[in-house]
Amino acid sequence: MGCIFCEIVAGRVPAEIVFEDEATLAFMDIAPIHRGHTLVIPKKHATDVFEISPDDAAAVMQTAQKVAHAVKAGLHCDGVNLFQSNGSAAGQTVFHFHVHVLPRWKGDRTITLLRSYSPEEGDLLRTADQIRQAMGPDAHKFT
Ligand code: AMP
Ligand code: ZN
Repeated sequence: MGCIFCEIVAGRVPAEIVFEDEATLAFMDIAPIHRGHTLVIPKKHATDVFEISPDDAAAVMQTAQKVAHAVKAGLHCDGVNLFQSNGSAAGQTVFHFHVHVLPRWKGDRTITLLRSYSPEEGDLLRTADQIRQAMGPDAHKFT
């Protein structure tokens, strides 16, 4: 099965494009959480944060910043969420890397994060150790 976002990049599926450069494309989400919900993607297919190249990830973030400025100036929102999902467990439904740019207005109640874990004594340290070990020799390089 083809990738819907690759089809948009190729111009075979229509999209309401708001920005394009060599490496990235930004277009309106077809089923917006609310007004102004925009997606930013790399033109080169990558499934998720684990697959995208660091250069493309940086390019997508630069475009997301441009779109954030534009939605703030153009739609006069009070704030902006940038978010990004990897894997179905994280809620990903389109398996071509994308960053959501979501304008927020005070009290809009569109996204609420539910805290579902209260660390016990020593939990933060143990968990940080697991992450530091997985990080390898680069962990704490600058501290
Ligand atoms: P995610 O759940 O993070 O994978 O987000 C996928 C997003 O892509 C959803 O918000 C969809 O509404 C959006 N989407 C799916 N198909 C299209 C399309 N053809 N054009 C624009 N947005 C789309
Ligand atoms: Zn794709």
